[in-house]
Amino acid sequence: GIKRDSKIQKARLKLPILAEEQQIMEIINENSIIILAGETGSGKTTQVPQFLYEAGYALEKMIAVTEPRRVAAISMSKRVAQEMSMTSKEISYLIRFEGTVTDQTKIKFMTDGVLLKEVQTDFLLTKYSVVILDEAHERSVYTDILIGLLSRIVPLRNKKGIPLKLIIMSATLRVQDFTENVRLFKVTPPLINIDARQFPVTVHFNKRTNENYLQEAFIKTSKIHKENSEGGILVFVTGQQEVNMLVKKLRNAFPFRNKYKFETQNEKEINDDNRDEENINLQKRLRKKKTKIIPEINLDDYSLPGDNEDSENEELNSDEEFETEMTVVSNNSQPLWVLPLYSMLPSHKQAKVFQPPPPGSRLCIVSTNVAETSLTIPNIKYVVDTGKTKMKLYDKITGVTSYIVTWTSKASASQRTGRAGRMGPGHCYRLYSSAVFNDIFQDYDTPEIQQKPVDDLYLQMKCMNIDKVANFPFPTAPDMLQLKMSENRLTTLGAIKDNRVTPLGRAISKFPVLPRYGKMLALSHQYELLPYTICLVAALSVQEVLLENPIGQTDSEEVKNVRQKWISLRRQWAGTGNFLLLGDAMVLLKAVGAAEYANSEGKLEKFCIENGLRYKAVVEIRKLRIQLTNEIKTNMPEIDIVVDPKLNPPTDLQAKLLRQIMLSGMGDQVAKKITPDELKDGEERRKYKYAYHANNMEEPVYLHQGSVLRKNLPEYVIFQEIYETNKMYMRGVTAIEPE
Ligand code: ADP
Ligand code: MG
Repeated sequence: GIKRDSKIQKARLKLPILAEEQQIMEIINENSIIILAGETGSGKTTQVPQFLYEAGYALEKMIAVTEPRRVAAISMSKRVAQEMSMTSKEISYLIRFEGTVTDQTKIKFMTDGVLLKEVQTDFLLTKYSVVILDEAHERSVYTDILIGLLSRIVPLRNKKGIPLKLIIMSATLRVQDFTENVRLFKVTPPLINIDARQFPVTVHFNKRTNENYLQEAFIKTSKIHKENSEGGILVFVTGQQEVNMLVKKLRNAFPFRNKYKFETQNEKEINDDNRDEENINLQKRLRKKKTKIIPEINLDDYSLPGDNEDSENEELNSDEEFETEMTVVSNNSQPLWVLPLYSMLPSHKQAKVFQPPPPGSRLCIVSTNVAETSLTIPNIKYVVDTGKTKMKLYDKITGVTSYIVTWTSKASASQRTGRAGRMGPGHCYRLYSSAVFNDIFQDYDTPEIQQKPVDDLYLQMKCMNIDKVANFPFPTAPDMLQLKMSENRLTTLGAIKDNRVTPLGRAISKFPVLPRYGKMLALSHQYELLPYTICLVAALSVQEVLLENPIGQTDSEEVKNVRQKWISLRRQWAGTGNFLLLGDAMVLLKAVGAAEYANSEGKLEKFCIENGLRYKAVVEIRKLRIQLTNEIKTNMPEIDIVVDPKLNPPTDLQAKLLRQIMLSGMGDQVAKKITPDELKDGEERRKYKYAYHANNMEEPVYLHQGSVLRKNLPEYVIFQEIYETNKMYMRGVTAIEPE
């Protein structure tokens, strides 16, 4: 039996789920697959594993619990260990590069990516008696794939007489994708709904939507603190930096009255931050060491959901701008106990949000969306919702991921609101207007699997040894036609052969871009061309780097002159011989190098205007180069690269090799010059002077007026994409020479 601390037992008994233990366990005992839905805070994550443990499910095998977020895996394992008075050796966690699992482990919390990797080596998951997939409503790609896999593994285990239970847990009742999907589960699994007591929450919209939501959050929080009655405040912002910034401002604005005692405590926290940074750096170094000895493909190539909030590459929000616009409030109110909360926050600090604030003070937690459903913070009466979230965005052309701050969904907003109604009636302050909410907010977030580029998804699933991706029982399927096309593209690329992933495919899958660019990057390592290829992938993924006309000017003689000047500059950049054959790619490399040089002299904007580059595009390219370089460094520590903004131009040999690299990735996008012999009269010849036949296209495609390759009109070219204005034009064109 478990010896529980009396205080903990008292807290447990208040949880709605505890009253349902018997019923839940009966349903679990009688069914192999169960869906369990319940409001955040009802006790799903902390209690269900304990029910199973007490019912004997951990006697011979382990209980697995997956979380889409690392922070939840760690923090929940600790909490459950504490509630059960057991150690981390028994109630353990395992995330990408660290964990506390031992041979005594009974309950194992892990990220969904970790369990997926285990499926690769032990398809039947024989170590476990139960698998709990937590936070299924978040619809992370890995959890979705796990649901599909487990829908097959569970019957197999039953057939073999070593039964496995699957429990899918969700914070919302929106589970139709799992229940009404006969391809997934032939028999609809029973749905248990935990009735959690939820108090009414009054929603207050702002009349107007202030762009500067951090400033707005500061003002609103201050106002609540000064004017409203007792009760904790929970503020939702988008990332770690925003959290820290707002925490600092609030601590400055509301220092503790009991100065000595509390301020030092708050100050100590700030000092702790530095120490934590050292810790994180140390961990990173250790992580790098460890990855070196893992020879296998890394399933965690793509940062896990939740990584985004602490993405190292996140754009720095200008602290200064914030500072000047901020009116510092002088006040004499009650002290405010301000705490940060985000994924990368060290656990001892995370633990603080669960403890009561110092007597006489008000609790205020500034959090990323980890507090939306993953972690339940007690005693919140006021929620301040910026309505913003950081979203992973995949570039359609290259698959490069970036993070953008966008409006969250109505479903998320309602989750955030709900956080204020756990202990009594509450208030939610939405820092946006009801019009914005009604007209702009989506109802639900799109499942990640439908946002991810299919080539990438397909390759990753092949790397998991999934035989027929098209037949995979997805909870929500990606576009099947697209999947079929991915298969063809990947086969052409050499990533897939005879329906199996090749070693090249495995290498490609390591790069955080679309497979075609992954192949280019993988090969570049061999030739030490990586900085150039990174620059090219970045430049090719940004639209309209090279302008055709000066922005906002009408067609005049002067404009024509400027345009001519730009075209001749690009010809100059393209050079001759192997350089020229590299075509648009060469122009982009030179343009980026020259722009970065101008930037180092503080003249970037002027340089861009004068030389026909779009300023924002250049800034974007730099960001992408840094991001790509960092991601490659993280995923492949054995590769040693740094970003040198002012990239020296490639040598003649390098230019030639780069052309081969381009061909290796875009060999399926070839166009052949329409020869004069095919055409009859002179007029036609003139019309078709710059025309090509692209594979699979009836209509001719053209070299654009701005293309440097018009000069030598190569017989074969590869292109990055085709776009249409008055005609079909090729973008990102490079020549290939027939051997
Ligand atoms: P659910 O998974 O249904 O959202 P949880 O099991 O995470 O609910 O939480 C149940 C209760 O346990 C909540 O009231 C939460 O505040 C509390 N709790 C969770 N972790 C901790 C912790 N580390 N310290 C104190 N209380 C905690
Ligand atoms: Mg939970």
